[in-house]
Order: sequence, then C-alpha cells, then structure tokens
Amino acid sequence: MPVGRYAPSPTGTLHVGNLRTALAAWAWSRHDRSGFRMRFEDHDRHQAADEHERAQLRDLEALGIDWDEPVTRTSDRWERYAAVLDEFVAQDRTFPCWCSRRDIREAAAAPHAPVEGYPGTCRDLDAAGRARRAAESRVEAPSLRLRGEGEVVGFVDAVVGPVEGRVDDIVLRRGDGLPSYNLTVSVDEVDEGIEVVVRADDLVPVTPAQIVIIRHLGGTVPTYAHVPLAVAAGTGRRLAKRDGAVTLPELEAAGWTATGVRTELARSLGWCGDDEVPSSGELLDRFDPHHLVRTPWVYDLDERRPW
Ligand code: GLU
Repeated sequence: MPVGRYAPSPTGTLHVGNLRTALAAWAWSRHDRSGFRMRFEDHDRHQAADEHERAQLRDLEALGIDWDEPVTRTSDRWERYAAVLDEFVAQDRTFPCWCSRRDIREAAAAPHAPVEGYPGTCRDLDAAGRARRAAESRVEAPSLRLRGEGEVVGFVDAVVGPVEGRVDDIVLRRGDGLPSYNLTVSVDEVDEGIEVVVRADDLVPVTPAQIVIIRHLGGTVPTYAHVPLAVAAGTGRRLAKRDGAVTLPELEAAGWTATGVRTELARSLGWCGDDEVPSSGELLDRFDPHHLVRTPWVYDLDERRPW
C-alpha cells in the first residue's frame, strides 16, 4: 500500500507533461486505495503562487485526480528544516562552504581535479582556514554542506531500472539561508511517510543525494519511479509552454474535454487502448505499474482533432 505524493512548484500552469506525471503518481497509490498527498514545493515563493496553486489543483481535479487533505507547502515548514539542520550541525555532520559556483567550476577544470562535483575545498578546514575562506570568498554567506564520502549510491527505479550515482558533499542550506530542495524534499518524504515517489525522469540524477539525506534522517527510502518526460514533436526537447497549446485550459479552449485529455494521457502511458474511454475509477482498477511506457511521450495533442 504505497503512500505517494505529487509535488509541483507553484510557478505557473501545469502543462500536459506535468499532468501526465501527476496522473501516474496518483494511480500508483490510489489503485490500491492508498494515501496520496499534494505538496507545493515553493522555495522561491513569489507573488502569483496562490493563483498558480489554485489553477494547478483545479486542473488536477478536472482530470479526476484526488488527494488527502491537507495540501502541504515547503514554505510552511522552515522551522522544521532549521531544526534538522541544527541537529546535523550539532552532530558534526556538516561544514560551511564559501565556494561560489564559479570556484567549483574553476576547481573542476584544474589538472588532477576530481572528475565531477564538489572539489572538497572547504571540507576539512580548521578555524583559521575557515576565517581565510570567509575573508577571500566572493559569496555573501556560506552554504552548509553535508559531509560526504563520495560514496556511490545505487537504487532500482521502478520505471528506469538500476541507477547509480556518486554523491559528494550535498548542499543542505543555500548561501541565501534557505534550505536546499534536496534537504526539504527528503525531510518531507520522511515526515509524510512517503513510500513511493513518482516524478519526471529529469530528477533521476539528484535521487542518490536524496537517498543519502533520508538515510541520515533515519527514514525509510521510498521506491522511486521516474516517468519519462513529454517532449515537443518538432525539437524533441522537453515540452515547454512555448510549444503551443500545452495546458489543460489551452486545450479546452481548442475544444478538448478533460476526459479526452485524461484518456490520451493514459494511452500515452500504455495504460488503456485506443478505442477505450475509461472513467477515472476504471483507470485506477486497471493501472499496472509494471506496464508503464518507458520512452518519452512525443506530444501531439495540439495537432489532433479535439474530443
Ligand atoms: N517540485 C519539483 C518540480 O516541480 C518536483 C520535485 C519532486 O517531485 O521531487 O519539478
């Protein structure tokens, strides 16, 4: 009975690629009547966030997606993340880092540099070394990194298959004082008891870091299922707003019904046949996580006859 979640950022209207991932995430949990949560990841909350949240929930609901209340927000939990950071600092699991992105890029370009990632510049400094870095640094305030050992973390993704990634010293708190996405998402998975994370496959590379943080928190690592992205027909690049009618309101304006869009999304995931129009309940009943399509979806709804 995997408890799942969908965790968009309220920065605009969801496009059909996002809606497709949301549909898969919802079905993964709800097909066996399990919990499904909505979380808005709003680190950089800006003025229109309320409006975007309402619009996103409305579009999800129009497709028949339902979730357990309450809807949660990253920005409501700063104190919780700060408490986790305080604990990690007290246990000496972290170190302050004064490196700018440019420092890291330049260090990586130097001869004999580690092939990828953070070069470890600030990892083992004593008090004098820290004072020197603070004085020479180009950044206003240090970030806080989790002391890592460059371990290689592997997991078996339920869609992608086996994945491995090297994890070095992960940023937990950014230079601007906000907790990093990798920290907040990991704390939230643990606190919300999330058992399956279904999301787009552009997040595969950061998953090993999240697994490391979840282990540090003493939590159970969820099953990950990374769904291939939707791509634009012309360019093959990840679908974006500039690619035409790509949101539910835009498709509705062109004559599509929510049922039509939901059915096309389910078909694109290999979860119903071309001549069927299942209700959302029927879609749940027949959902089989083992038979999801594993290739990107080439978006074509805006070229098809609406129904
Ligand atoms: N908030 C992220 C996004 O909108 C998703 C992160 C996640 O699902 O872990 O891309």
